[in-house]
Amino acid sequence: MSDIRVRFAPSPTGQIHIGNIRTALFTWLYARKHNGTTVLRIEDTDKKRSTTEFEEIILQETDWLGLDWDEGVRAGGDYGPYRQSNRLDIYEKYIEKLIEEDKAYYCYCTDEELDEMREEAKAKGKPPKYNGKCRNLSEEERKQLEAEGREPAVRFKLPEERKIIVNDLVHGEVEFSSEVLDDFVIVKSDGIPTYNFAVVVDDHLMEITHVIRGEDHLSNTPKQLLIYNALDWAAPDFAHLPMILGSDKSKLSKRSGEAYVYVSEYRKKGYLPEALINFLALLGWSSADDQELFTVEEIINNFSMERVNNSPSVFDVEKLDWMNGHHIREAKLDRIVDLAIPYLQEEDYINDELSDEEYDYVVQIVDVVRDSLDYVAQITDHVDIFFGELEYKDRQEAVECFQQEDVDLVLETLKERLASLDDYSPDVILEEMRSILNDLPVGGRLFYHPARYALTGKGSGPELYKVVSILGKEETINRLDKALDLV
Ligand code: GLU
Repeated sequence: MSDIRVRFAPSPTGQIHIGNIRTALFTWLYARKHNGTTVLRIEDTDKKRSTTEFEEIILQETDWLGLDWDEGVRAGGDYGPYRQSNRLDIYEKYIEKLIEEDKAYYCYCTDEELDEMREEAKAKGKPPKYNGKCRNLSEEERKQLEAEGREPAVRFKLPEERKIIVNDLVHGEVEFSSEVLDDFVIVKSDGIPTYNFAVVVDDHLMEITHVIRGEDHLSNTPKQLLIYNALDWAAPDFAHLPMILGSDKSKLSKRSGEAYVYVSEYRKKGYLPEALINFLALLGWSSADDQELFTVEEIINNFSMERVNNSPSVFDVEKLDWMNGHHIREAKLDRIVDLAIPYLQEEDYINDELSDEEYDYVVQIVDVVRDSLDYVAQITDHVDIFFGELEYKDRQEAVECFQQEDVDLVLETLKERLASLDDYSPDVILEEMRSILNDLPVGGRLFYHPARYALTGKGSGPELYKVVSILGKEETINRLDKALDLV
């Protein structure tokens, strides 16, 4: 293990979004590449919106993708607790320290007073900043406000005007002026610290060396740097990942067209985790030679923060589908079969309990149709030709095709020759069909086209000899008979 320690710090306030999982992935890749430690910290200071169900979902989806956490809420570790709601006493200690050192102060302003302050600033054409009302309260004034029953928040005392430079591994030097900030709240009046405070304490105490997160947090970083400074702590390195945009170039959200925004939706449709990883890795990162298809291992080996782009990436579903199709074809057949079975059951193609024979039948089908799949749920669009009585999906075209000259001879011969065959293994059928074509006075098109309509009811589909092999002798001959009735 190297000294590198990174963390993924989601808030369990909803389903896990594609943007969050890309953050989780880059964090994980960075650690695995550098032999570092991954930490999963749950940031549940938003008490109203955080739930343990959402925490479970985060773990479930990162497990599914194979992103493992060396330390965290489930794995434990020496730097716990790893859930912010269990760390309140830790934060309190540092809040007290800041107050004692006059770097933070209690603020008794009510919501109404703060609203007024904002309105006043607005009227003067100024940015809505806290006006420092409680900055210099005397002990007596404080006591009086407390006697009124006011619960104070704690505000950070913004130092005199100064430049704050974020040295970002993706964006380079980004300069902020403390002028854009105000005395921001670090503990809310309910006693819960704010994100900007808790994140600093946790990252420091957990000895995080690299904070990797979405670019939406870049603007929080100056506040965090001020807190590091006030506590006399060295800040970690930061890497803010570019935003992900929908195909309409707006921020990826439920409304951005065709893209699903939650990881669970991709899992449910039968996208493979390695394909989603491949795709997400390229949302922000690229390899030196522009390679696009990677195994997870290859991404780990090639990954570097220097090659993370600082401009937004567009989520291209078509590219994801193409990649997923590739990974489906690369995967072990058994795995795709197991993924396919629930979809086939759902559509009542197969029973809930499968005999060995039925399972083998499904294996053969998946083997021939997987080339056509972008994601496994699509399998139900391709398997009707293997179940139940044949329906002519493209009836008009089939009838027209059957009316061509010599089709009767083609189908008769096919029927006769296939009827006399006992071995229906794919190789044997392939050989036999080639030999039949050779013996007939017609070209390939006039042979395969009617044969395909006769055997599948459609004008296109998987390799015909494979279809015949799966259907077996009885069904093949039945279908040829049915077609001959239409010729
Ligand atoms: N809880 C924050 C979020 O989910 C984490 C931000 C950070 O990584 O610092 O956005």
